[in-house]
Amino acid sequence: MTADPETTESPALSVTGDAALDVLHRVFGYDAFRGSQREIVDQVIGGGDALVLMPTGGGKSLCYQIPALVRPGVGVVISPLIALMQDQVDALRALGVRAGFLNSSQDLDTRREVERAFLADELDLLYLAPEALGGGTSATWRLLERGNIALFAIDEAHCVAQWGHDFRPDYLALSMLHERWPEIPRIALTATATSRTHEEIAQRLNLQTAKHFVASFDRPNIQYRIVPKNSPTKQLLDLLRTEHNGDAGIVYCLSRASVEKTAETLSAAGIPALPYHAGLDQRVRAANQSRFLREDGLVMVATIAFGMGIDKPDVRFVAHLDLPKSIESYYQETGRAGRDGLPSTAWMAYGMNDVVQQRRMIDGSEGDLAHRRMLSMHLDAMLALTETVDCRRVQLLNYFGEKAEPCGNCDTCLSPPETWDGTVPAQKLLSTVYRLQNERNQKFGAGQSIDILLGKRTDKVAKFRHDELSVFGIGTELSESQWRGVARQLLAQNLLMVEGEYSTLSLTESSAAVLRREREVMMRREPEKVARSSGSSGSRSKSSPTIDLSPEAAAVFERLRAWRAGVAKEQGLPAYVIFHDKTLRQIATQKPASLSALGTVDGVGQAKLERYGEQVLETLAAE
Ligand code: ADP
Ligand code: ZN
Repeated sequence: MTADPETTESPALSVTGDAALDVLHRVFGYDAFRGSQREIVDQVIGGGDALVLMPTGGGKSLCYQIPALVRPGVGVVISPLIALMQDQVDALRALGVRAGFLNSSQDLDTRREVERAFLADELDLLYLAPEALGGGTSATWRLLERGNIALFAIDEAHCVAQWGHDFRPDYLALSMLHERWPEIPRIALTATATSRTHEEIAQRLNLQTAKHFVASFDRPNIQYRIVPKNSPTKQLLDLLRTEHNGDAGIVYCLSRASVEKTAETLSAAGIPALPYHAGLDQRVRAANQSRFLREDGLVMVATIAFGMGIDKPDVRFVAHLDLPKSIESYYQETGRAGRDGLPSTAWMAYGMNDVVQQRRMIDGSEGDLAHRRMLSMHLDAMLALTETVDCRRVQLLNYFGEKAEPCGNCDTCLSPPETWDGTVPAQKLLSTVYRLQNERNQKFGAGQSIDILLGKRTDKVAKFRHDELSVFGIGTELSESQWRGVARQLLAQNLLMVEGEYSTLSLTESSAAVLRREREVMMRREPEKVARSSGSSGSRSKSSPTIDLSPEAAAVFERLRAWRAGVAKEQGLPAYVIFHDKTLRQIATQKPASLSALGTVDGVGQAKLERYGEQVLETLAAE
């Protein structure tokens, strides 16, 4: 059908590139190319190599899917995400694209059929795992040698970079593709933004002479918010109830135990939540992932083992209950929100113990001093982001080498925190640590120092006669939680450090300057009232997909959503494969009265119009 390159009359390599636009309209149902999609598509259709760095949600898939449909032969896509290949292929088939995959999870008959279709040039796209190529000796490699290949797309290309966060040794062998098929264009794609990774990809995949396309990594529809952690589960529940009722989202926790506990708490509170971590049985994990993708409004509580390649477009929030280990991780994890471009929230609660925990993990990590120093630098950058009084987005993009203006859509822009001169409290806390260490030869955690400053006569204070220290009771001007904030910020600024099994505090090389009054310490005052959504009801944007819809359109949207859920269930497909929320929103506001009017809606291509058009019109007509 439309996807068949044979039927597009003009030669694929025509400079006008109308074939590409035609595929964009008819197959994908989109009006126009976005950002540099057009240039990338033209580059690959013309037979050139491309290295594409584009954030999640930027629209990378079209960059290789359209050339694969326009060029003669089959587009071969290398992807590490075996568990998601079925979904990717289903989504393409729903568009009328002839797609297939080969991986180890298949039975022999299915495999034979895909191989046959590939050799007969009856596929537009073939998905493969990198290990299937077996370094040039495998059966799959020999299969490729007998087929007609349109292009090679290397998805999640940062997996080839050792410096990055998802290194996969199998990716190293992909440089052989070019040696064997020098004339076939290659396109490598990643959402990883750091220039180190960028260079490494180019070098290892032999793409130095390819055309590089580097998009902005800004995700304007994501609202970044980082709040001090008081009672995390309660804060999370508050967020979900007031702003994300019924929305799909991801909650990241550091440990398996807290994943389990948080998922239980949410479920008990009536919020449908599923756990996901590496300790769960493989089948349970796969089932939970599949439910998250297929059903509307589920919350996935997960360790970082979850998420790469999840292209669910309507994840409305990503919540962190623990601090990520680097800005890179934070960016990748929060980036899973709002692929569809609709407003979404990246929310994180963080406290002193996060710093303690992360520093402890670095101390206990394998590897040499240089490696630990690198981890430490990553963590410090992350901490600077959490404690900043400037725009979060500006700081985030700066980290990736991009300049930006304050965004107006992050917590520090929406309710700017004040800074205050925390030099005196810093001196008090540091000198408590100093006295314990030097007068008593003792080390304690932050809690004990704070009790001493507040003049609390606890059992532990009495036992160690800490009430006899000169600093006892000199800090009553701040509350306990304010002192914890002071300790956290001193840790973040490297003016204090934590050590050992008991997370005891000690001074750093920089502490002395503060104690000698040679250095000021500026701190961030949390805008406690405004940080909660209860204050001004309208100002905090709610990010549900019905935002900005009239009540009438919202009702129609919900009706369409219910229809979609039924179809998704019946066909065993994720709801978004039928239509994205964004498409349903547009249908609900425009209320097209005919098939041809429906066909003009973004995301309604020919195949979907034929398959679902009548049903959508009926759903619109029903009251
Ligand atoms: P990425 O792989 O870069 O994360 P996707 O390819 O999944 O991004 O695209 C993100 C979303 O944007 C998808 O919902 C996709 O259908 C949509 N999209 C991509 N290109 C366009 C376009 N030119 N017009 C409208 N929507 C688009
Ligand atoms: Zn901002």
